[in-house]
Amino acid sequence: MTVILAFLTLGVAQSQTHLTSPDDFFGFRLGSDRKMARWDKLVDYYRLLEKEGGGRLKYIDMGPTTMGNPFLLVIVSSPANLTNLERLRQVNSRISDPRGLSEPDARKLVSEGKAVVCQSMSLHATEIGGAQMAPELAYDLLSRQDEETKQILDNVILLLVPSFNPDGLNMVADWYAKNLGTEYEGGDLPWLYHKYAGHDNNRDAFQLNLPESRYMAKILFTDWTPQAYIDHHHMGSYGARIYVPPYAEPVRPNADPLVWRELSWYGAHIACKEEEAGMSGVLNMAQYSGWGHFGFHWVTPFHNITGMLTESASAKVATPIFIHPDQLRGGARGLPVYEEQTTFPNPWPGGWWRLRDIVDRQKIAAWALLDQAARNRETVLWNAYLKARRQTERGAEGKPAVYVVSANQHDPLTAVKMVNTLVLQGVEVKQAPKAFITAAGVSYPAGSFVISLEQPNMGLIRYLLGRTFYPDNDWTRSKDGSPIRPYDMATDTMCEFMGVRVDPVDQPVAAASLKLTAAAPAAGKVERGSAGFVLDGRLNDSFRAVNLLLDQSASIRRVDRPSGGLRTGDFLVASAPDSTVADIAKQTGVDFRPLATPMNEGTHELKRLRTGMYQRYRGGNIDEGWTRLVLEQFAFPYTTLLDTEVKKGALNDKYDVIILPDDSTFMLTGDKADDRRDEGRGGTRWREEPYPPEYRSGFGKEGVEALKTFAEKGGTLVTLGRSTDFAIDKLELPVRNVVANRPAREFFCPGSTLRTRFDNTNPLAYGMPAEGLVLFFYSPAFEILPNDFNERYEVIATYADRDLLQSGWLVGGDELAKKPAMVAARYGQGKVILIGFRTQHRAQTHGTYKLLFNALMR
Ligand SMILES: [Zn+2]
Repeated sequence: MTVILAFLTLGVAQSQTHLTSPDDFFGFRLGSDRKMARWDKLVDYYRLLEKEGGGRLKYIDMGPTTMGNPFLLVIVSSPANLTNLERLRQVNSRISDPRGLSEPDARKLVSEGKAVVCQSMSLHATEIGGAQMAPELAYDLLSRQDEETKQILDNVILLLVPSFNPDGLNMVADWYAKNLGTEYEGGDLPWLYHKYAGHDNNRDAFQLNLPESRYMAKILFTDWTPQAYIDHHHMGSYGARIYVPPYAEPVRPNADPLVWRELSWYGAHIACKEEEAGMSGVLNMAQYSGWGHFGFHWVTPFHNITGMLTESASAKVATPIFIHPDQLRGGARGLPVYEEQTTFPNPWPGGWWRLRDIVDRQKIAAWALLDQAARNRETVLWNAYLKARRQTERGAEGKPAVYVVSANQHDPLTAVKMVNTLVLQGVEVKQAPKAFITAAGVSYPAGSFVISLEQPNMGLIRYLLGRTFYPDNDWTRSKDGSPIRPYDMATDTMCEFMGVRVDPVDQPVAAASLKLTAAAPAAGKVERGSAGFVLDGRLNDSFRAVNLLLDQSASIRRVDRPSGGLRTGDFLVASAPDSTVADIAKQTGVDFRPLATPMNEGTHELKRLRTGMYQRYRGGNIDEGWTRLVLEQFAFPYTTLLDTEVKKGALNDKYDVIILPDDSTFMLTGDKADDRRDEGRGGTRWREEPYPPEYRSGFGKEGVEALKTFAEKGGTLVTLGRSTDFAIDKLELPVRNVVANRPAREFFCPGSTLRTRFDNTNPLAYGMPAEGLVLFFYSPAFEILPNDFNERYEVIATYADRDLLQSGWLVGGDELAKKPAMVAARYGQGKVILIGFRTQHRAQTHGTYKLLFNALMR
């Protein structure tokens, strides 16, 4: 019997075409010391596996990344499943949105369907383990002949994203190769490892600014709704060796409880399999709290997908690191000391730590997740059905019943952008063809959008559109009562960030009957008046239209005093060719309304300023990257300004405005004496200077002098977030940050929306509403100190008098009331603008973009 079985197995093996192993293909064992495969080679390998894989691997090019590399989805399953893939996808979709599906029919689909598991690799490109591990995972699935493997292929559809950030993978591989054998071997990349987002690329899962995010949203939220999703990362080097699910406290409510149970269930299987294989240092239910940012692995629970991550201790990229036993430490959430505990029963003893150790542990985790889903296919699918059904029922029973996005908005085009982003996330949005009145008697115009909570991802909708309060309890306070920093922000209320009014309504709205199946179009109307056109200054997209017009040398005026239906901040276009206007109206969605009579009084000729965008090295500045993206999205031309040029001076020759993104004074100047903040990344390694000299940026004293001169001679220095500290300190402005050095127990505000008044008669706030929300993220707030020249200081935005918090978490906060949030100071012949809050945060806070845009025009 044994002999026959062995023969049969051999027969199957022989019927396959030759399968090239990763060792043979790459010429080294993946994860070997000082070796790293580039993306082009990895892509070639998956293409080869599709050819050689006997119908068990499907290679899909989702499209180009930000920098033009292919973004891949690799699907692995049995040949029968891959042949039948479209049918299985439909079964999966129906289970994930079972509205109108009877329970017996659901049972039938569960018995027919396959468990769908998505795994993504190396989103953070320096965390290279996942992308280097995945080829072996794929090869093992295709080459192993045992029952366990067969069970996985028969029961599971693996959606493998071999690199979430191919651009970054190549940057890291090239930088690593360049420095191999030098004192900088294994050191950090001096710039962002994503062109715009750097490490923030996983904070883009709800705003979907980046092409990589849009591909993932298509995979996870519209084409498929996997039952489980895991994202493989690295963490610091001195604690546990690998973190596996579930998350630690606090948890974010409003997901189906089965999600959190499944996190523990998968996590326990992964941890068991790691111990079975003799892997030490495995930690679960710690470090990463259930309430994190709304990145992909943290937002998926609200799509009824069990969203998880692994985090491996880092080596120095592919270079081993030695760690002494006494250097190992706990201290993180859920691991107070580096000792045995139920969630950490087998501490790693220290010694050499290599990339291969990471690859081994990650591969076991990746495999165990597939194994657990395969062993429990029907449970996994039935739970998916239950999660979606129960969330829909909760939405139907709860309040509000719907969120209404009125067509009547301060900036309706931004509202359409928000709605379209919801659609990309798989949220069902309906539009009312006619005006309607709610049961409570509130009327809405035709074209208003209605988002019902009676749908599977109601939890997601609540967080993106509803007021959110971060928990304030024992999980979020330390023993002395100090608030513990949330993992990221305390709210992710997209509508508040975007300045879009969304009304919670307690009764369903029947009038909304048109279901949006694709993005709502927003083509602008064109009607020429005898004196040209008017563009609404309240629309962010009017700035884009104006920039496109200026690119065509159009002459544009701006309204300073309202008259004859014109508002302060509106743009007047005297002449522009019909074809240009039609094209720009189509591209931007902005209406070109008729202007009857030429207006010179109360208006001024608009001048677009020459903008320098300061960029540093030392790992790059994420806020700089996002700012660049926002400028490009709205067609603002800019020039990147590096230290060498800042130091040279004579900046007025080339620039009218210089933007300093959010940064500490130390990182701007590079002067150690300025290092009043802790810039260390706790838990990671320490090095005197990980960068070669040319990348140890900081513009130093010469740069400070050059920027002072620039402002004195008529330039405008725009400082964002913490770089306002730099301006106050180095340019000696009589302004004080009223929340500087306040103990967290007395004042604490992590990523929250605060009510603010805007002086929209000031050109810097043209087009803004009189009141709105700003995003406060450990931001400064100001007080202008009494001085002999108070008239030189203008307050553009002021925190509300009381009840500041809209969403998030605010401890204390009385000191903010009535305080300036944005100040413009005359400085010599020029100006220094201090914007304390996050005016363009992660290309998400559309509601305050105009405050930056106005500074780039005059
Ligand atoms: Zn990471």
